Amino acid sequence: MILLHPVPAVAHVCPHCNTQLHVAGWYMPGMRSLADLTCQTCAREFFGDLGAGQALYTPMLMEKAGGAIHGAARAPWFANWLQRSYSNRNDAALNIDFEKIRPVKQALLLNCLDTLYGHCLLKLLNAQSCLDQHPEFDLIVLVPRILRWLVPQGVAAIWSVDLPLSRGAEWNDWLAKEIGRRVAEFDKCWLSVAVSHPLPESYRIERFTQVVPFALAQWGSRRPTVTFIWRDDRLWSLPAGGGRWTRLRRFIRRGFISRLEDQQQRMMRFAHALKMQMPDVDLAVAGVSQPGGLPQWITDLRHPELDTALERAWCERYAASHCVVGVHGSNMLLPSAHAGATVELMSAAQWGNILQDILFRNEDLRTAVFRHRVLPIDTEPVTLASVVSAVIRTYPDFATYMAPEAASNAVLAGRVQA
Ligand SMILES: [Zn+2]
Repeated sequence: MILLHPVPAVAHVCPHCNTQLHVAGWYMPGMRSLADLTCQTCAREFFGDLGAGQALYTPMLMEKAGGAIHGAARAPWFANWLQRSYSNRNDAALNIDFEKIRPVKQALLLNCLDTLYGHCLLKLLNAQSCLDQHPEFDLIVLVPRILRWLVPQGVAAIWSVDLPLSRGAEWNDWLAKEIGRRVAEFDKCWLSVAVSHPLPESYRIERFTQVVPFALAQWGSRRPTVTFIWRDDRLWSLPAGGGRWTRLRRFIRRGFISRLEDQQQRMMRFAHALKMQMPDVDLAVAGVSQPGGLPQWITDLRHPELDTALERAWCERYAASHCVVGVHGSNMLLPSAHAGATVELMSAAQWGNILQDILFRNEDLRTAVFRHRVLPIDTEPVTLASVVSAVIRTYPDFATYMAPEAASNAVLAGRVQA
């Protein structure tokens, strides 16, 4: 954690004079936690990122006059979010719920606002280490309303903002004043560094969702259960290049079949292949979408709008699943945290983001690799079904020979026999 209030602990250097900038205060107009900075040599004024979230790795410095960004080359997207939000800054009032759970003596603020769902959730996972490793602090969690249900027990206060993800990067001066006013009630306030990808040993997902993940020890005794994670906006799409897919692509271009219909057909071919290989499979589809069009034997859990009860019900389904299958993205975070295994479809553009959407358990590295498979996006439905059924069928053997607890059990048994 770093000191936020009254004067934040941060070091930025004037890009014109190469001298340390004077820190006058801080400003939090949304997802950005910023230092208010002045150069005592050239008198230019700046906002500079405080070391939290993405800014731990790629802090930006922005000139108040004109909005020029320094440091953009390290993460142009992160620079663009700041520059764009600053040039479109607004003063619109937002609905905020300030929930006081217990008195705050030593304030520690965790800012989970962001425009990407995955970023918000990953920041929120830092709450556990704040609570467990810094019990002398009283944790205040600042979250978008859609994440309110995931805030763990033990926090001192929850500030939930009605800010949709689509506006999650916005610069809101009204929000900055509101947060500033609340934080000013404390003599001092610290800021959680909110690492982007918390270590698996630093959180347990049931502290957040109240749903216990799939019990690996019960793998072999449960009916094979698979859940397909559906997204309308990131599709299990057609393979690139020519060949036998050219005709289908032409059909889609001409409007004979939509890309969503194509995804549904692929998923159905996957479902049939899976059922051929595992006739007693329990298959469900979950995700934000209009349900319908599936045969009776597949459970359709899709819904066009999210609410807490639905999200928790989905988590229970993931936790009952040996395997969840889906296209790479933040849609895989909660499924991977709860399910026995994941098989993910990766588009060519996303290979560099591999593993960013998997919430690993604190486990043996071989088990982690076994449980989380990644395949190219153009994987055939029948091949996908083979991989999923192989994971489900072979995990018990894998655990017998390679899981650490199995190895020590075998050694013990050998000693007894000797
Ligand atoms: Zn200067």
